[in-house]
Amino acid sequence: MSAKDYYEKDFYSELGVTKTASGDEIKKAYRKLARDLHPDKNPGNKRAEERFKAVSEAYDVLSDTEKRKEYDEARNLMASGAFRGFGGGAGPGAGTGGFDMNDLFRNASQGGGMGAGAGGMGGLGDLFGGLFNRGGAGAPGGARMRPQKGADLETEVRIGFADSVNGVTVPLGITERATCPTCHGIGAKPGTSPRECPVCHGTGLTTRNQGSFAFSEPCANCHGTGSIIDDPCPTCHGERTVLQTRRLTTRIPAGVSDGQRIKLAGKGEPGPGGGPNGDLYVVVHVTPDELFGRNGDNLTLTVPVTFPELALGTTLTVPTLSGSVSLRVPAGTSNGRKFRVKGAGVTRRGVTGDLIVSVDVAVPQKLSGAAKDALEAFAKAQTADPREAITRALRSRDGAVTGNSS
Ligand SMILES: [Zn+2]
Ligand SMILES: [Zn+2]
Repeated sequence: MSAKDYYEKDFYSELGVTKTASGDEIKKAYRKLARDLHPDKNPGNKRAEERFKAVSEAYDVLSDTEKRKEYDEARNLMASGAFRGFGGGAGPGAGTGGFDMNDLFRNASQGGGMGAGAGGMGGLGDLFGGLFNRGGAGAPGGARMRPQKGADLETEVRIGFADSVNGVTVPLGITERATCPTCHGIGAKPGTSPRECPVCHGTGLTTRNQGSFAFSEPCANCHGTGSIIDDPCPTCHGERTVLQTRRLTTRIPAGVSDGQRIKLAGKGEPGPGGGPNGDLYVVVHVTPDELFGRNGDNLTLTVPVTFPELALGTTLTVPTLSGSVSLRVPAGTSNGRKFRVKGAGVTRRGVTGDLIVSVDVAVPQKLSGAAKDALEAFAKAQTADPREAITRALRSRDGAVTGNSS
């Protein structure tokens, strides 16, 4: 990052404060943002990570009276158009006006020096790299810990089709990190205690100077925890947490669909530093039924029938989820017709759907001699043409061909 890029950044808007904000206002704004954007609270969230870095960078400058003054002055100069030479100029003297930002910057920092000229602000990303690559929820305890909402958890459960329609109570086992029961989250062998980290003096942060700027970064000696454990707890090996399986039961409500996520508020991980629990999400998988399907609140069922049953009419006995019903099929029913059995569907939030029954002609693959004779007799006796429109179309086409050729 060049000095120019640096001064083109609006640190005030980054922190959401005015240019005249007091030191206290800046500190307050930063604390709120840092809390919300902290990587421990937003695992895997790249945007939050970028914002967190930007906010930290802004705070580093604005919280220091000297740096803030330099920054304000340089930005005022920029706004007044004093740096026309910046366009393509990278190094000293590249500007047309002979005015170089890096010179100004060097002067302003009174010999502290930006060192490598335009590249002087680089390396900020490196400073934060270690912090963001710690992964997972990080070690609890330490000086930086503030109350936060616990992490959300997700688990899966598979239930049968009838249970998905009627609702069911299921047992759940959730594997999660919990405070080590041996050391109660201290990480040290019982009877011993951690000592203050001599490098950061318990703050968990060290300061690195870069040019005239100082950056805070997690202490490498204690990994940001602020303390050193000489005698680790034998159960958690100094990790302060252990993996545990928590068992609970929950009611899956009637009418749940395959793939639906059910939120159990407050059943997630405990909040670090005394914060509220996270939530638990249960993803429900429903094993399909061999007879029934589902369409919203309606159940669907396909019933195979014979051609004579549709042609002559019949009464079918069809199953529902809980019993059976009689279904009157009138003579001359078309194949695929749907019948509605009111109230035999899924009840969700007080509303009950229907059972939709489709009739589907099963064409026999094998015919007995008697059946074949009867069918042939039927074919002869049945004179109505089921393809009347098509037959007509074919005839007119024949006519057209004949007409052309004569
Ligand atoms: Zn330390
Ligand atoms: Zn332990």
